[in-house]
Amino acid sequence: MVYHDPYTPERKYYECRDCGYRTTGTDKPGSCPECDGLVKNIAVPQE
Ligand SMILES: [Zn+2]
Repeated sequence: MVYHDPYTPERKYYECRDCGYRTTGTDKPGSCPECDGLVKNIAVPQE
């Protein structure tokens, strides 16, 4: 199943600095849902 959504205008990537948890979305999460750490915006997703 392909996760790419052509109707999503702009999907940003966020990564937790503490545990490496990653999420995507148009709104910045306030904190990491896993460890409540600081989540930063990463411009280029890395596999
Ligand atoms: Zn975390």
